[in-house]
Amino acid sequence: MSDTIEKVKCLIIGSGPAGYTAAIYAARANMKPVLYQGTQPGGQLTTTNEVENFPGYPEGITGPAMMMELQAQAERFETDVRDGWITKVDFSGDVHKVWVNEDKEIHADTVIISTGASAKYLGLESEQKYLKLGGGVSACAVCDGFFYRNHEVVIVGAGDSACEEAHYLSKLCKKVTMLVRRDEFRASKIMAARVKNTENIEILFNTETDEVLGDGQVVTGVRVKNNKTNETQDVDATGFFVAIGHKPNTDIFKGFIDMDETGYIKNVPGRALTNLEGVFVCGDAADHVYRQAVTAAGTGCMAALDAERYLAAKDSTFEVSTSNYN
Ligand code: NDP
Repeated sequence: MSDTIEKVKCLIIGSGPAGYTAAIYAARANMKPVLYQGTQPGGQLTTTNEVENFPGYPEGITGPAMMMELQAQAERFETDVRDGWITKVDFSGDVHKVWVNEDKEIHADTVIISTGASAKYLGLESEQKYLKLGGGVSACAVCDGFFYRNHEVVIVGAGDSACEEAHYLSKLCKKVTMLVRRDEFRASKIMAARVKNTENIEILFNTETDEVLGDGQVVTGVRVKNNKTNETQDVDATGFFVAIGHKPNTDIFKGFIDMDETGYIKNVPGRALTNLEGVFVCGDAADHVYRQAVTAAGTGCMAALDAERYLAAKDSTFEVSTSNYN
């Protein structure tokens, strides 16, 4: 354990669009933000190919390129962007205590949580085995689809993510088999239609994954089961993609902050305030409804403004900046 404690005015945890937007606003308000990037610098958007719905990019932009621009913008105003993973917090007292990599201790006047969410897996033993082996299980078609060019793959899920990823894979792979556990999609009509109209995507409705098959090293197929008839069949595949939603990355805050039963942090409606004074939340860590880059960025702005007002109310020497309101 390091024996020096660092004091910061504004600590931002997470480096997606929410975190970087909070940093841009906090930096422009003289809050000297320190931002820890976490294990996936840039957040989920770094695993997205084309972002076409973020205002200001009429031709679209790749997720990684957009995150580099957001980081550069935050650094332009002197945000201290750091590598590191927050492993523990203690919000039980007046001081907000945070530990980085189990070692460095930080005391922060304000904390902005922008830790986002992570992909969920089915939890089957065979899925986890080949995931750990790096043998053909993935939750990110955009990251890993390239490795399956001209192969046959299976994807699980029926939401917008699954449709987007199935469509992406269809452009690379010989065949995509999509497993939908109900008799309909959850995805928006336009996304579902795109999948249905793609020749090399076969959709198996009422179908679940029984087991991921392999040779001990890599995936060779998937045993699927029709949940109406209980019939099973083996589908040939070298890749097994999981696109069944996300879990908020909020475990380290459990016991300190109010959350819903699935771990999304509760915020005061229309604000970035949590139940704890000086602790604010933005982005997917609190949002199970919209989960868009633009909504994350919007709530990042709100979190920084709420933090700025909190500091101004607490410390008469800290002035609310005018730059954020121009
Ligand atoms: P969703 O929660 O919307 O969908 C998850 C899907 O996975 C559901 O169809 C669900 O089935 C299925 N599923 C869950 N668990 C299992 C399981 N154990 N076995 C099989 N299937 C399972 O998550 P998404 O990630 O798709 O989307 C999240 C949010 O992001 C949504 O609001 C979506 O609209 C948005 N989004 C928007 C995009 C865009 O506009 N470009 C792109 C991607 C996401 P069931 O339906 O039966 O519950």
